[in-house]
Amino acid sequence: MISLSDVRVARENVFQVVKATPILQSAQLSNRCGNRVFLKAEHLQKTGAFKIRGAANKVKQVVGKGATFVTAASSGNHGQAVAYIAKKLGIRATIVVPDDVIQNKLAAIQAYHGGIEKCGRTPSERLRRAEQLASEGGGAVIPPYDDPLIIAGQGTIGLELLDQLDEIDIVVVPIGGGGLISGILTAIKEIKPSVKVIGVEPETANDTCISLQNGAITSISQTATVADGLRATQPGNLKLPIVQHYVDDIVLVSEEQIKDAVRFVLERMKQLIEPSSAVTVAAAIYDKIGACEKNIVCVISGGNVDLSQLAKMMV
Ligand SMILES: *Cc1c(COP(=O)(O)O)cnc(C)c1O
Repeated sequence: MISLSDVRVARENVFQVVKATPILQSAQLSNRCGNRVFLKAEHLQKTGAFKIRGAANKVKQVVGKGATFVTAASSGNHGQAVAYIAKKLGIRATIVVPDDVIQNKLAAIQAYHGGIEKCGRTPSERLRRAEQLASEGGGAVIPPYDDPLIIAGQGTIGLELLDQLDEIDIVVVPIGGGGLISGILTAIKEIKPSVKVIGVEPETANDTCISLQNGAITSISQTATVADGLRATQPGNLKLPIVQHYVDDIVLVSEEQIKDAVRFVLERMKQLIEPSSAVTVAAAIYDKIGACEKNIVCVISGGNVDLSQLAKMMV
């Protein structure tokens, strides 16, 4: 398990390339939830998602160890984050994407000057390709979540939150592979254990919830959820002990509830958040958290939504 000092070191490593994102508030959202609700706005982070925090911490380390380029297997927020950070630190990045990647995701990676390698349809095929490319010539693979430096980087959100808000009762965090919640749990529970941390998964991607019940990593069959950042089918190896040790609860939200939360935040707060982050707002709106008149922080992990996907969610 990582410790608070790892998260503090990560903050020193990344503060120059990562934005301290604002906290947003809305009376309408608070009223609808029956609590004081604050949004930690990582959708306003550079590259539009928190992934850059972990990626920056990890890429700095591998560059320090002599890597001449980095690779990653992801057409989503992780791929963009790695491309962005590599450019910032002056090294090359090759991002391995599916053969059928959608055009605007490619464009986002290319905008950060990331090289593209198309490969296959399954995540494991692409990870193998990223590893192969790295091993061919002094490169390093940057994993999306199952790595101590990635987890520590994501944990910097927890440190920032404790600086920004004096009174927090509950922090609500989305769970995909689990790097984000593991980092936030480490930071918050080691500094202020009275703050509750609740994880949220889509009902159809409840691998962490089931693994916690079973007391062991358990994979589920393929997931179909609009929250594309939360489609992991099993929790990362490093995360389960951290979540088991610290988490107060894991709750589930339905696809309709996720879409409703995207619409509510767009309509009432004029903020475009992606479904993977909207799970936290859905949990607050649909009373999954079981709190009343409390100060609740929903972590808004990102805002990258394909516009055609957005249009489908509006009806
Ligand atoms: C990656 C991602 C998540 C999930 O983070 P994990 O560390 O994999 O649990 C949630 N929201 C968004 C927007 C993401 O990009």
